[in-house]
Amino acid sequence: MINFEYTRASSVKAAIDMLAKNPTGGFIAGGTNLVDLMKKNITAPARLIDINNLPLKEIEEDPNGLKVGALVLNSDLSENEIVIKNYPLLSMALKAGASAQLRNMATVGGNMMQRTRCSYFYDITMPCNKRQPGSGCGALQGYNRMHAIFGASDKCIAVHPSDMCVALAALNATVTVSGPKGERKIVFTDFHRLPGDSPEKDNNLLKGELITGVSIPKNPFTKNVYYLKIRDRASYAFALVSVAAALELEGNTIKQARLAMGGVAHKPWRLMAAENFLKGKTASIENFSQAANLAMKDTKGYGHNNFKLRLAPNAIVEALKKASGQS
Ligand SMILES: Cc1cc2nc3c(=O)[nH]c(=O)nc-3n(C[C@H](O)[C@H](O)[C@H](O)COP(=O)(O)OP(=O)(O)OC[C@H]3O[C@@H](n4cnc5c(N)ncnc54)[C@H](O)[C@@H]3O)c2cc1C
Ligand code: SF4
Repeated sequence: MINFEYTRASSVKAAIDMLAKNPTGGFIAGGTNLVDLMKKNITAPARLIDINNLPLKEIEEDPNGLKVGALVLNSDLSENEIVIKNYPLLSMALKAGASAQLRNMATVGGNMMQRTRCSYFYDITMPCNKRQPGSGCGALQGYNRMHAIFGASDKCIAVHPSDMCVALAALNATVTVSGPKGERKIVFTDFHRLPGDSPEKDNNLLKGELITGVSIPKNPFTKNVYYLKIRDRASYAFALVSVAAALELEGNTIKQARLAMGGVAHKPWRLMAAENFLKGKTASIENFSQAANLAMKDTKGYGHNNFKLRLAPNAIVEALKKASGQS
């Protein structure tokens, strides 16, 4: 591991100023991803700015919705009474992530910023455009079982590994960030980006910016929700495919549906065509299947991950069945 300096920031402004003075530095929160990246020489910040003392640990609800500080732990958020009662999809997604020990360290901001789990990205002897732009993509012709079926490019076919972010995309969350030029808000589905020609950029956070929190607007999805995660092991494994499903039902009619997927794209993948199709329809398995087929337009397999082309629509149907109490 390469030597680095360590400082602790006591305010948001101090953290931003410290990074501005040391552009080769980086923030550290729970460290559950960053320290691994440093040990494997994938990243080498010259200075770590510890943000754990910043006052960004509140979970608050007001009539407009929920506000969550960037340093709230994944475990605290998943077990929070308000979240369980009014935002159960978020709680379910968080509990599906990692392990209890990791969730006790992992923060909301860090979870959003975690890097892909593509094994070529983690192996510095292999080509990887995300780690080393221009070096090629080892996964494209390599072992790509975990990789994307939506929105990939010939430069990168990696997926974003978060579970929490899939629920936040479905719930129309907004991210608040602060930087040298002040504060701004980013619609959650615009926070992460597709790889295109610059896969080294995972998201639209600008250099020097700090995530300070996430807010979720008040919503009617308190009952008919389900987070389905399909993975190789029951715990401690990233999603092969996951689905966040939320339904607002009036009798057996769908007033509103929200659907997002994880493990399938470089960003949490919102299924707008399927959502629009389900609006006003009966909550039937036939309609769920038609919605899933619509969602699968524009998919592409890369060989080892072709199984996801069948797994993904089946997972959508299953998540909708569970959300509507039919399974
Ligand atoms: C074995 C294992 C299994 C896992 N399984 C899952 C899983 O199934 N599902 C899942 O979702 N996750 C999983 N994870 C990932 C885990 O959830 C993330 O590592 C964690 O959420 C990162 O949060 P952190 O606070 O530890 O971030 P850190 O490691 O401290 O930071 C990660 C990155 O975020 C940046 N950062 C942190 N906070 C901020 C901020 N406020 N503003 C700007 N930048 C910031 C850091 O600079 C760094 O680049 C797993 C991790 C491991 C090690
Ligand atoms: S898929 Fe992306 S992260 Fe994986 S090797 Fe290719 S460029 Fe790197």
